[in-house]
Amino acid sequence: MSKLQSMQSAYMGRFAPSPTGPLHFGSLLTAVASYCDAKSQQGTWLVRIEDTDIPRIYPDSETHILHCLDAFEFEPDAEIIFQKDRLEIYEEVIYQLQQLNLVYACQCTRKMLGSNAIYAGTCRNLNLAFEHQAIRVRVNDQLICFEDRLQGQHCSNLAHDLGDFVLKRRDGIINYQLAVVVDDYLQGMTHVVRGADLLDNTERQIWLGQLLGYPRLQYMHLPLAMNAQGQKLSKQNLAQALDPAQAPQLLQQAIRALHQLPVDLDRPARMLQQAVAQWDVSRIPRATQLEQIYQ
Ligand code: GLU
Repeated sequence: MSKLQSMQSAYMGRFAPSPTGPLHFGSLLTAVASYCDAKSQQGTWLVRIEDTDIPRIYPDSETHILHCLDAFEFEPDAEIIFQKDRLEIYEEVIYQLQQLNLVYACQCTRKMLGSNAIYAGTCRNLNLAFEHQAIRVRVNDQLICFEDRLQGQHCSNLAHDLGDFVLKRRDGIINYQLAVVVDDYLQGMTHVVRGADLLDNTERQIWLGQLLGYPRLQYMHLPLAMNAQGQKLSKQNLAQALDPAQAPQLLQQAIRALHQLPVDLDRPARMLQQAVAQWDVSRIPRATQLEQIYQ
């Protein structure tokens, strides 16, 4: 099988943390929901470490992620992959897009772009050489919509909302949008379960997938766990790192936060088994935020 060929199964799901900080309770919600959703449909569940943004990698967070997966007894169905080992693949896809004239080099600096959130297409027709420049993908003036399993219909016109967006930065870093689309395809993903903070990224990913001829995925964006200040839990907001020693208690709390039927306190693998057996998506709040406060 060529390395750009996809694997396939009826349900393929994943948990794809970025090691930009230790896992927190919000990450646990995604891990639990992606796992239970896949397993309750006899699916395959994989883990992928999204570590292309090297300057943002937080020391030891990769170790913490692996330690947590172990302590919470999450067993991926195949070996964990690390995106930093796959840079050649992403470069190859950029080359494919270049052959189709779907990407171009952009020399605009952050300073030149200013605070404008929508890229005006300044370098679109300049035909700049690709070396040492950012690479942007062309977008069209067209509405892209998808039906999220929890959030309902979500749409964006990328030309109006964003403009041509970056796939590779000037410093050579491959952007998350490209890596996620390529790996979801190559790993044969059918379903994406992740936090609602990524809802607005989805149209970009659908667009890229469409350009590359990849099949569409099913999306489910989970309500986010918020802190007392009304911010989503994140490293920036000083969310507490998951304590592997508290795995059963935290699992119980995560299952409750997803409004699932309670599970008995036991060893994590058995708790997960019970959560899978009881998994009911219709119980999860159809909102982008959970009401209860976490830390
Ligand atoms: N790596 C992303 C994050 O940690 C998640 C990517 C995804 O699930 O699509 O926020």
